[in-house]
Amino acid sequence: MAIAELTHFIGGKHIKGTSGRFADVYWPMTGEVAARVPLASKAELTAAVANAKEAQAKWGAENPQRRGRVLAKFVALINRDMDKLADKLSREHGKTIADAKGDIQRGLEVAEFATGIPHLMKGEFTDNAGPGIDMYSLRQPLGVVAGITPFNFPAMIPLWKCCPAIACGNAFILKPSERDPSVPLMLAELFLEAGLPPGILNVVNGDREAVDGILDDPDVQAVGFVGSTPIASYVYSRATANGKRAQCFGGAKNHMVIMPDADMDQAVDALIGAGYGSAGERCMAISVAVPIGKKTADALIKKLIPRVESLKVGTSVDPSADFGPLVTRDAVNRVKGYVETGIKEGAKLLVDGRGFKMQGYENGFYMGGCLFDNVTADMKIYKEEIFGPVLSVVRAKDYDEGLKLVNDHEYGNGVAIYTRDGDTARDFAAKCKIGMVGINVPIPVPLAYHTFGGWKRSGFGDLNQHGPDSIRFYTRTKTVTSRWPSGVKEGAEFSIPTMG
Ligand code: NAD
Repeated sequence: MAIAELTHFIGGKHIKGTSGRFADVYWPMTGEVAARVPLASKAELTAAVANAKEAQAKWGAENPQRRGRVLAKFVALINRDMDKLADKLSREHGKTIADAKGDIQRGLEVAEFATGIPHLMKGEFTDNAGPGIDMYSLRQPLGVVAGITPFNFPAMIPLWKCCPAIACGNAFILKPSERDPSVPLMLAELFLEAGLPPGILNVVNGDREAVDGILDDPDVQAVGFVGSTPIASYVYSRATANGKRAQCFGGAKNHMVIMPDADMDQAVDALIGAGYGSAGERCMAISVAVPIGKKTADALIKKLIPRVESLKVGTSVDPSADFGPLVTRDAVNRVKGYVETGIKEGAKLLVDGRGFKMQGYENGFYMGGCLFDNVTADMKIYKEEIFGPVLSVVRAKDYDEGLKLVNDHEYGNGVAIYTRDGDTARDFAAKCKIGMVGINVPIPVPLAYHTFGGWKRSGFGDLNQHGPDSIRFYTRTKTVTSRWPSGVKEGAEFSIPTMG
């Protein structure tokens, strides 16, 4: 296969990298290098920001209906190119085509949300706040803002970041994952075709050097990050130390609590889909099952074993596959390393997918599903995010112990409870220290008009992604107090003005 040379996308044009540094981009299903992506130098990043700053002044002053119309056209173009985008996404990431379409769709929905920007950006007005005084608050764009995104949702997360930001009138620098950068470049082309002025959405490919360039550039006003917790924490500290607004979302360890009264077949279906879909490479994947009581645990394990054993691993383009390869060989080795650690720690490996080989694709990055029982809270495989097709069962004696496990874990992204009891569900939703909660729903990713974000070490910053929070994050509020001179008594006032 010929190796494609990818570019940056700056000022509405594909720009070749000039740093001389590149990263290989693989097709996980075959293990081949399909492309190389340039890694931007600080100078290339700075030039992109300068270009964006110039373009933003006009875009920010454009009326919001016109900005919304560009988003609406963009939505139509994504739908037109859905198959092409999904094919590229699944080849570079490894997820199945159906899952790739879901990735694009969940991003597209945030673009749809952002078409409503005239309404979303409306301010507030108080008539007669004082004698002859009116007061109003308005939202203005920040200027140039940036998004740094992970490999596991190469369409959805860039779209979550850039659509609200652009709709609010900002220019955007996107630094996508260097592991699957093609779809972000295709999305930038579609935005241009939709009528977005050049320079408003720029894709700067790169690694830490480009990220540090973003964090230190005085013209970047806000940074949105999604990725692993150590990098989220680093980006948050450095961005805020440099006076920027930041929202940084990190890793996860999502539990599913299964109560004795749960519909066990439903719970098992949910665990299989949410635990192993996308090879477990989702920040909202369920990686820990917490059955309550021995009877529940035994029944669960009995039903889970044959289901995990019969999971179908396939190539990314096999429509019958449950999940495809992992993203890189390193990822496979890391996940297998965790399985090894779990055995050493004394967890009981009931299904071992480490030996799986994909016939005809022996160089691809595959592994089968793994299932552990008797995992305990002190084990590394419980404490750390594995990010692979590995489900751990942690047995809890009662509801309080299950809830405590959830609340004591350092991550707080998503959680689910399976029960038929309304009181238990309500108590759980109220008491769990987790950002997104599913009641008989395994992957409770909020829709575009609500907000998405985790608690504890899964999220740094005050505002969440998409929904109303995204409009607050990408705008600053100005409050104007106005009085016209007619009818106003003369004279200086030396005390703090009050409205009486
Ligand atoms: P990652 O942290 O390795 O990379 C994320 C981004 O940071 C990439 O753009 C990468 O180029 C950049 N980066 C990597 N190392 C860096 C460094 N040393 N300095 C500066 N920048 C650096 O994450 P990943 O492997 O691409 O994605 C998987 C992780 O993302 C998982 O932990 C997953 O849970 C998390 N995730 C979280 C959410 C959420 O909303 N909480 C959503 C999706 C993924």
